Amino acid sequence: MFNNNHLSSLGDTSKMRIAVVGSGYVGLVAAACFAEIGHQVFCIDNDGAKVAALQRGETIIHEEFLPELIARHKGERLQFTTSLSEGLNGASIVFIAVGTPPCANGEADVSVLDSVCSEIARSVDGFKLVVVKSTVPVGTNKRIARVLQRYGAHPSCFRVASNPEFLREGTAVADFLYPDRIVLGCNCRRSSELLTRAYKPLLDGGYAASSSAIPAPDNAQIPARVVLTSSASAELIKHACNAFLAMKISFVNAIANICEANGADVEEVVEGMGSDQRIGSRFLKPGIGFGGSCFPKDLKALRAVAHESGYDFRLLAEVMQINEDQRANFVRKVRQALWTLKGKQLGVLGLAFKGGTDDVRESPAIAVIHRLLKEGCRVSAYDPAATARARAEFPEGAEITFTKSAYAAATDADALLVLTEWEEFAALDLQRLRAPMKQPILLDGRNLFSPQQMEKAGFTYYSVGRPEVIPELEPRDSSREAA
Ligand code: NAD
Repeated sequence: MFNNNHLSSLGDTSKMRIAVVGSGYVGLVAAACFAEIGHQVFCIDNDGAKVAALQRGETIIHEEFLPELIARHKGERLQFTTSLSEGLNGASIVFIAVGTPPCANGEADVSVLDSVCSEIARSVDGFKLVVVKSTVPVGTNKRIARVLQRYGAHPSCFRVASNPEFLREGTAVADFLYPDRIVLGCNCRRSSELLTRAYKPLLDGGYAASSSAIPAPDNAQIPARVVLTSSASAELIKHACNAFLAMKISFVNAIANICEANGADVEEVVEGMGSDQRIGSRFLKPGIGFGGSCFPKDLKALRAVAHESGYDFRLLAEVMQINEDQRANFVRKVRQALWTLKGKQLGVLGLAFKGGTDDVRESPAIAVIHRLLKEGCRVSAYDPAATARARAEFPEGAEITFTKSAYAAATDADALLVLTEWEEFAALDLQRLRAPMKQPILLDGRNLFSPQQMEKAGFTYYSVGRPEVIPELEPRDSSREAA
């Protein structure tokens, strides 16, 4: 068990040299945050265009506080390179944060990780702790040690450890600097001591107390808690967490469907469920389901790991199926609201897989739009950050245009669809939104608005697991009836 008292014996950590391989959502945030807590960091990526943009000071991804951190440390504590050997030079820890996408059979594809390790083995210039931050199947750390050895690294020159990342896109910087816990999967003391030194300013509260610290979120765990485990357990913790969170979302979506069929309100059900401390309300948010680069692939990967281990984890297949069905249910709802979809003009609010990010990987919003286009709709879509990435998801000639504001997306629409829960949408002027629409019909796939609010604003309103709002027709004119 980890004891925070050990930290005082670790001495000054300010000059650790750290390399981070991969400058995507995880690698870039980790690199900027390690620089922020005092380390000398090299972030390495084999994508030359990305590295050039980062060297120019561009943030390349949409994340709160990331531009500030990059501006604060670039060229000093934080450097970018395409050269692995330059980045590794003198580093005592190498974090690997490259992608681990799914193979056709659902298994995680760890080939990029393998190839990075083979390159690291050839560039070793002294002892290195190789830390896997990418999400990987249990057993990967062991395999990586073999790869390092096979490509020429002497076993005395390296150790391998697991340090899964739990940041959420949209709040990634705050999640990294104020984590609920830091999981260190280490099979030896040397590894755990090095990793503990790397995270020391988060573990002793030093970072949070500094005057220039990024503001801590409400209820932040300060100092951060460490969960010290074997590398195999750490690998499994990450997969188990993501699978469990995805299961909570699918569970509440299944409950929402029962609510709809019986006139119950899922928000009331969630309030009753979530106030049970054993359950908690987080991730009990009904909607059009989960997406992103992690949950779908990690569910498949864990199922594949279970299968390899001789266990058929059928629950995970059902979690995925409910998620898929939820998108189809929403499209059905749009069709029911409009009678027919062919030729309809739809305004869409939200393209990112969730609010606060520009990431559209496995975005439920994109999946729903594809279905609607297939049914013959025309779509006018707005997203505060994800439009550039979303464009690439549609073929040339697709009946979709991208607007610069939510109000423009609503113009001439037969219905307006909320597909991503951006805070910006919740603050829209509803009268201004309604005025240019052909019909004031709003379908809220994220339960962002309340039925009461929509009723007041004069919308016909459909959401997920809650009673619909259908404004009463104007009272008939009885004098005309008599005539
Ligand atoms: P990403 O695709 O955004 O980034 C991966 C980066 O690695 C890219 O910039 C790519 O150019 C670079 N890369 C690929 N091959 C390389 C090589 N040979 N050398 C150097 N760089 C190389 O991926 P991501 O979203 O940051 O995810 C990385 C890992 O972290 C995945 O395993 C993912 O499951 C896990 N993870 C992601 C999140 C998240 O929210 N995105 C959260 C926790 C964990």
